[in-house]
Amino acid sequence: MERSDPVPRITVVGTGYLGATHAVCMAALGFDVLGVDTDAVKVAKLNSGQVPFFEPGLPELLSKALDSGRLRFSTSFHEAGEFGDIHFICVGTPQQQGSDAADLRYVESAVTELAAHLRQPALVVGKSTVPVGTAARLTEIVQRVAPAGTDVELAWNPEFLREGFAVDDTLRPDRLVFGVASDWAETRLRAAFAPVIAQGVPVVVTDLATAELVKVAANSFLATKISYINAMAEVCEAAGGDVARLAEALAHDERIGGRFLKPGLGFGGGCLPKDIRAFAHRAEELGVGQAVSFLREVDDINKRRRSRTVDLIAELVGGELRGARITVLGASFKPNSDDIRDAPALDVASSLHRLGAQVTVVDPAALDNARRSHPELAYCADALTAAAGADVVALLTEWNEFRLIDPQVLGAVVAHRRVVDGRHALDPVRWREAGWEYRALGRP
Ligand code: NAD
Repeated sequence: MERSDPVPRITVVGTGYLGATHAVCMAALGFDVLGVDTDAVKVAKLNSGQVPFFEPGLPELLSKALDSGRLRFSTSFHEAGEFGDIHFICVGTPQQQGSDAADLRYVESAVTELAAHLRQPALVVGKSTVPVGTAARLTEIVQRVAPAGTDVELAWNPEFLREGFAVDDTLRPDRLVFGVASDWAETRLRAAFAPVIAQGVPVVVTDLATAELVKVAANSFLATKISYINAMAEVCEAAGGDVARLAEALAHDERIGGRFLKPGLGFGGGCLPKDIRAFAHRAEELGVGQAVSFLREVDDINKRRRSRTVDLIAELVGGELRGARITVLGASFKPNSDDIRDAPALDVASSLHRLGAQVTVVDPAALDNARRSHPELAYCADALTAAAGADVVALLTEWNEFRLIDPQVLGAVVAHRRVVDGRHALDPVRWREAGWEYRALGRP
């Protein structure tokens, strides 16, 4: 391979939560960047300085990057092929309808469309989360379709950013993983991440398959830790224990650690649920399904937290949800995000609605998204207004402003002082002192 510009020009294909953040941060680090998406509305928004989703710090950084002249967005793969030396693939890999497998249509079409315009040596770098073996298959497609043939290589660089902390996680990640098939690809990736590596961020270089696996292995571990403590919550409920104290005691053991050991309503979002399902599915295809069969259990424990939360709310209103007025605090799958993909809070809210409750949902950022996906629910921007006359208030996403609610002030507007703390985010002593019946999963 020839071409050895010291500073690569970068394209980012797919400018959603991951891709837009990556494109903006790479421009902030000093690279010339072109973001490409098939969604013309999204591209126009980004070009005009609007981030189409909620992510703290990203709008300011986008404005700066656009002003610097180093960043622009387009729908043209032709432009991407002409412009870029390194092309990051950041399109979605959702769960397939009717199957646990990942839907790879978007990755395949993005890579194929891009490859058709690659006339010079280039590196195509997958960042999307994919089943192991995808990179090898895409290499074959890219080299067959690209006019530059085998002068185009593929690498995998899994992404670990967390929504809500995406800018920081991109500029200062815990680690970089480079799955590569050649020294040339590693050199190119080191050039693309030079400013990040210069801060001392560790780089782990692997083959393609290992890099693909790192991401799903990490998400499986995190999901397992959450479901582990929620399994303990189920036992505590039956045995009369207190899972909050149990978790606190476990967390003092450094070998266990307290992070992701928070009992409650469990995980959701656009990554963990679909990633563990796709991993289990892929392992079965590879004949090693038994090795990760525990992930099915992890998923089931997680789903049971949602139905158990509905039961707990029903218990508080005497068993009959029909006509009960429930205020749900939170719609997004976690605080500091407007992402409602597989959001536990909305799942619980819509179950309550199906059972006849009158549900009003409050969220600081996700109301527009929630309204589009669950038009049957009522929405309100303000917790105090929403809770007027409520029979139960359920905190299901632990936004800071919900944690800070004064139980006396809220108590003055509700019909009954009953609260379900789905995230173990409130102080039970304070709420009980204010006259509330306080309930949380796994606590007496
Ligand atoms: P997203 O749905 O927000 O964004 C995907 C984008 O790809 C959309 O803007 C869509 O229009 C675009 N797209 C679809 N097909 C395209 C094509 N053929 N060409 C160009 N653009 C196309 O998804 P996301 O949350 O950004 O996730 C993207 C990938 O990153 C997924 O594999 C996900 O698992 C992974 N990931 C996400 C996060 C996260 O926190 N969101 C973190 C790590 C990894």
